[in-house]
Amino acid sequence: MMTVDDNQDETDFGIEYDDAFSSKYMAKHILGRGVSSTVRLCCNRNTNEEYAVKIIDITGQNHGGDNRAEAIQEEYRNEILILNKMAEGEGHPNIIALIDFIESPTYFFLVFELCHSGELFDYLTAVITLSEKKTRAIMRSVISAVAYIHSHNIVHRDLKPENILLDANLKVKISDFGMAAELTEGVYLRELCGTPGYMAPEMLKCSMGLENISSYGQKIDLWACGVIMYTLLVGRPPFWHRKKMLMLRAIMEGRYRFGSPEWDDISDTPKDLISKLLVVDPKLRLTAEEALEHPFFQQTEVPIGTTFNARRKFKAACLVVYGVVRLRHYCGQRIISPHSIQENPYGVKAIRKALDGCAFNIYRHWVKKGQGQDRAALFANSPKMDIKNLNNSLSSSQQTTPTMSRSSSTTGMAT
Ligand code: ADP
Ligand code: MG
Repeated sequence: MMTVDDNQDETDFGIEYDDAFSSKYMAKHILGRGVSSTVRLCCNRNTNEEYAVKIIDITGQNHGGDNRAEAIQEEYRNEILILNKMAEGEGHPNIIALIDFIESPTYFFLVFELCHSGELFDYLTAVITLSEKKTRAIMRSVISAVAYIHSHNIVHRDLKPENILLDANLKVKISDFGMAAELTEGVYLRELCGTPGYMAPEMLKCSMGLENISSYGQKIDLWACGVIMYTLLVGRPPFWHRKKMLMLRAIMEGRYRFGSPEWDDISDTPKDLISKLLVVDPKLRLTAEEALEHPFFQQTEVPIGTTFNARRKFKAACLVVYGVVRLRHYCGQRIISPHSIQENPYGVKAIRKALDGCAFNIYRHWVKKGQGQDRAALFANSPKMDIKNLNNSLSSSQQTTPTMSRSSSTTGMAT
């Protein structure tokens, strides 16, 4: 067995772990990292099939010694148990499949189906916001996976865009069951776990001993779905404050806004669904099954990632051209005029996206100003840039990839 340096980059193919693993698979470059795990691309030596392997150092050497070793092993055994439960029967198409599990004296190797397109988090960082149609496709998959998880008496407890993976066709796969718990007779969930911005009010209140809340249940996952859906549509989370305590208070009070101008372009149906998910009282919050019945999901459409349909694309293009011609006729002016850009640049969707991208690049986290988190406030002043140069600046800013801050979880396991 060779010593392995987790900092090796993509050129370090042929890394060897314990024989139990490396006789069957070849580990390749790093796909992602957790607190006590590294996820690498790997290849089955017989079939050449590619997978993702989550490699967990179970010695606890980097995490405080033997006591930690036992805790790490127990945590990951729980994850494996739950993953196996999720795979029973047919499994679910939107839940990551555990293909193989190999145990050695130093490592656990969890071999998963490979999600070529990585995290929904990175996808959102690249596109800033998603259309209602894409949000519908993604949230339908996420909530239907949550319904399946709940039907097996399991709570995920760490749903967030970093733990929602996308395969080559952008099909959603819920992953990271490291925080998941099984609800059995006499089991009450009380501990604070997950990631602050996605935590449900009842979990926070329970851990703080507020309002006599003695435990929480599956509805915490539906709260997280509300946070995710809000974030997908406008590219920022509903609850955020530089001071964490103020953010947690806003969550416990269910204080969030569909602020202008970002939400002006978005129809009422998704807003209605979000407002039925972000309900402080878990008894009044929708269940996963109820959420799937919401009118937002009743519209049928081809899921993203399906094959190209030239006829449908042509029809859509004709409709768009027709619509634009009619609009120009009725407005008697350009739809986005230099005047409207000069008056309120942030009110123009394309410019708003570019400006938001620049803001991410500059601040590397959600920008906050005033009481609510309000990136629009940054651009509320009259434009200082010469409007003639605006096009050049925008095209160069759109080429850069904005970065959102990654949310870290409160407990050691998930990130
Ligand atoms: P942790 O519990 O340490 O957070 P995760 O299971 O969330 O570990 O994996 C960490 C990261 O590794 C993920 O956020 C993702 O970027 C990457 N990853 C995990 N599983 C896969 C997979 N099946 N395909 C591609 N990337 C993956
Ligand atoms: Mg994770």
